[in-house]
Amino acid sequence: MLKSKVTTIAAALLIASAMSGGAKADDVLIGSCIYKFDDTFMTGVRNNMQAAAKELGAEIELVDSQNRQPMQNDQVDTFITKGVNALVINPVDRSAAGPLVSKAKSADTPIIFINREPDKKILDGFDKAWYVGAKAEESGTIAGELIVEYFKAHPEADKNHDGVIQYILIKGEQGHQDATLRSEYCVKAMKDAGMKIEEIGADNANWDKVQGHDKMKNFITSKGIDAIEAVLCNNDDMALGAIEALKSEGYNTGKDPKKYIPVTGVDATAPALQAIAAGQMLGTSLNDAHNQGTAAVRIAVAAAKGEAVDEKSVGYKITDGKYVWIPYVKVTAENYKQFAK
Ligand code: BGC
Repeated sequence: MLKSKVTTIAAALLIASAMSGGAKADDVLIGSCIYKFDDTFMTGVRNNMQAAAKELGAEIELVDSQNRQPMQNDQVDTFITKGVNALVINPVDRSAAGPLVSKAKSADTPIIFINREPDKKILDGFDKAWYVGAKAEESGTIAGELIVEYFKAHPEADKNHDGVIQYILIKGEQGHQDATLRSEYCVKAMKDAGMKIEEIGADNANWDKVQGHDKMKNFITSKGIDAIEAVLCNNDDMALGAIEALKSEGYNTGKDPKKYIPVTGVDATAPALQAIAAGQMLGTSLNDAHNQGTAAVRIAVAAAKGEAVDEKSVGYKITDGKYVWIPYVKVTAENYKQFAK
């Protein structure tokens, strides 16, 4: 069946469903833009959104915004013209969410943002706008704690015995709340634990494994491998890239415990879990793609059906009428098996 407000059949269905108190889930078409398909974590969210829509009997159309905001703006226009019943948007540039909300509001189409958080006043401007995400402070804190715990258990990992841990910070994309907050809170957690630390290098690698590798390689060249005692990365892909760079120096192969520098990530992607299992990576935190994707789709369907969006209808706590926060979970060699899919 064609699922569009602009077709006569769908219009009739909508009138019928409005009369019966809302659309049925199988009349719901969700239009969703993902900032770029070529992102490991967002691929997980995307797959879970598809599964959640299927479970609810709704239809979802997902498009790749190819990391270009103007392209995403056009995609949203196309979805609205087509008559989607709800939008789920992973913005390319979260500071560009305002015009998207205006478009959705003019069409009275519910809009749910995911992963890249718009300003609260943008969300407050439309009663059918929500955000589903995770508090980056938590994952930053977990990364810092992982390093603290490691050095407590391995004081010899302070290679120059100066009582100060020299670390490298590899950050995500500038302007992304997850990059800013994870970077801030991992440092804070180490300081709060009383650890003496020194940042000997920090750079953005835009969530990307190849860039993570290249940035780490530069640090190894400029600082020397012996000067680096820990590496904190804002996500797993960059951590895995950094580990590749360490491996090419004979470090973090999982074979020689003396040639190991603790590396942390965020996300708990399948390759990161493998690296933890192989003794090449210290730990990460679960960025819960399943619950984030599911919550976004459930809000979209409930709102499209004209139901109240609350814990009862979507199964997730709604904070301030606008937010679903999915908690992070610490992942180490002790518990990683729990997170393998
Ligand atoms: C994830 C990254 C991902 C980014 C995309 C973050 O929450 O940790 O892996 O690249 O979102 O926006």
